[in-house]
Amino acid sequence: MMAETNITVIGAGVLGLTSALVLSKHANVKITVVAKHMPGDYDIEYASPWAGANYLPVGEPGTALCRFERDTWADLDRLAKNVPEAGIHHQPTVLYKRSKDASSVMSQKDPWFKNTVPDFRVIPSSECPAGCEYGTTFTSVCINTAIYLPWLLGQCVKNGVVFKRSILSHISDAAALHHSGTPASITINCTGLSAGKLGGVMDPTVFPGRGQIVLVRNEPGVMGGLSGTDDAADEITYIMQRAVGGGTILGGCLQKDVWESQPDPNLAVRIMKRCVGLYPKLTDGKGIEALSVIRHGVGLRPMRTDGPRVEKEKIEGSWVVHCYGHAGQGYQSSYGSVAEVERLVESIVSEKARL
Ligand code: FAD
Repeated sequence: MMAETNITVIGAGVLGLTSALVLSKHANVKITVVAKHMPGDYDIEYASPWAGANYLPVGEPGTALCRFERDTWADLDRLAKNVPEAGIHHQPTVLYKRSKDASSVMSQKDPWFKNTVPDFRVIPSSECPAGCEYGTTFTSVCINTAIYLPWLLGQCVKNGVVFKRSILSHISDAAALHHSGTPASITINCTGLSAGKLGGVMDPTVFPGRGQIVLVRNEPGVMGGLSGTDDAADEITYIMQRAVGGGTILGGCLQKDVWESQPDPNLAVRIMKRCVGLYPKLTDGKGIEALSVIRHGVGLRPMRTDGPRVEKEKIEGSWVVHCYGHAGQGYQSSYGSVAEVERLVESIVSEKARL
């Protein structure tokens, strides 16, 4: 239970919307979300709609990211089980580890999340594609972002959150945009990649991780990927079938410091070839010509050198809670990150009450 508090959230990506939703469950809290982009928009400055999105943890044990990912599974699992209109479903997941690639948290035989997700099992090399040392399989979730983002917004509106379009040049301008007419006492900064440019924040450690995808109508019924490719060190292979008719995402790449917003047609062909090569079932063995393309897309993951920043800071005399820099993990670490945002907001409110 919090004392009466006005909060402005900057950003309507998955972190801004989840922050607004979780905080809106507290009585006495009035929330305004201000954002340049909202669910329904597709823009290179707005990462959330471009994500697959799924839950494949990558956080090293002991890091904040690992804790945020661990603390997010239960909510995504609950939504997949009990709230079908949120656009999240469970999917069998298969990851193959090639002999030539270094092992990461995601591709380990014994990752920390093996007891978090259900049905975790190691696949022997005899059951893997050629060149693979082993595979892992488990049940994960795939989020149809075109459904989930508007669902989050709708849940916020139901709880009284007010949404406004605005482009801020300085973080301190957010407080005065609160819909009540009384300035917000806390601002939540969920500006993603733009945290590098926003006045008062200007985080120099934020940079883009370009991802290119192909969205197709073909339905493989499985989600998964390979630990590496022979095409380029920054290219990857993954597929995920979105819930409720959302098509299947074929990916991809992670190109650091690349800002290009247009799809590269050559890369698109490589992505389609690799995905169909790994999952011939995608086109019933008929090759990439049998892919039915909905759209090609490019999104910029909000990378940050030290991982996501979820912490409080006083800027020009007002409290800000930062929640940005979630790279390629914004969905799979969303509820865990926002639990931390909630704790920080509560600590600010109780400190104010003591004064
Ligand atoms: P954004 O979605 O970028 O939202 C930022 C918000 O801030 C926007 O509303 C914007 O308009 C607003 N804003 C910024 N600056 C200002 C300003 N000055 N004034 C007003 N408003 C402002 N994650 C996963 O968990 N699983 C996946 O499988 C996955 N796959 C991905 C695949 C691709 C191809 C890509 C590109 C990303 C993927 N991600 C995945 C990562 C995920 O998309 C991001 O981590 C997440 O979307 C970041 O959300 P955000 O809310 O921080 O930022």
